[in-house]
Parts: sequence; structure tokens; C-alpha cells
Amino acid sequence: MSNFSSKQLLQKALEARRNAYAPYSGYLVGACLLGKDGQLFTGCNIENAAFGPSVCAERCAIFKAVSEGCRNFTAIAIVGGPKDTPEEDLAPAYPCGVCRQVMAEFCEPDFQIYCGTPEHPERYTLGELLPKSFGL
Ligand SMILES: [Zn+2]
Repeated sequence: MSNFSSKQLLQKALEARRNAYAPYSGYLVGACLLGKDGQLFTGCNIENAAFGPSVCAERCAIFKAVSEGCRNFTAIAIVGGPKDTPEEDLAPAYPCGVCRQVMAEFCEPDFQIYCGTPEHPERYTLGELLPKSFGL
């Protein structure tokens, strides 16, 4: 288990959000993924003029982790919102359906998903946000 609180993970997600590349939507997202071994992997959304190649912050973090050999996770924190919204005023941003499915590939139903801000965290499990997920 880790020593990271939801507040700490959301703070790191907020910091990762500052690296988001979202010139088309103007919607900046950061994520911080916690491995069961205590490693942290951050991600941000990265858009593309062709839209299709764009990637969400959550998948950015998960793919970074998997590519570095980490496949077991405890939690992810997600912070997102329009670029002009002050960080302290951000409303909760929830993972899209594609990211939920990617989480289901590597995570158990009790995987923790923190949304909101460090000061106003919301806590869900993957099983709550993606019941009856697809799997082979
Ligand atoms: Zn997504």
C-alpha cells in the first residue's frame, strides 16, 4: 500500500495538468496514477490537429506505467477543466468511457478513482464508474 493521500494525488494531477496540450478543446486534464509498488506516473491530455490521435491524461499515465513495466495499480487522481478556470474553481472531471475501459484492463473493481480538486476530493471505485465492463 502507499502513503499517498487522495489530496496528494490530486495535487500531483493538478500539477501534471499544467503540461496539458489542448489547443483545440481548451480543456486541460492532468492525472496521477499510483502503482501498487508506490510508483507514481503522471499524465496529461495531448491533442492533435487530426483529433483521432489525441490521448486523455488517464491513458497517458497508464500507458507510461505499463511501458515501464508497472501493471498493478491502486488509484488514479484526475483533475480537469477549461483552461481559463482558476485551479481552485475547477469542477470534478470524470474519466471518459475509453479510459474506464483501459482501467478495467489493468485494474480490479476496487481500484480507486479520485476526481475533483485537492481541497474537494470525490472518491469512486472503478466498479462504480464502469459496472459490467467488457472483458474476455
Ligand atoms: Zn479518457
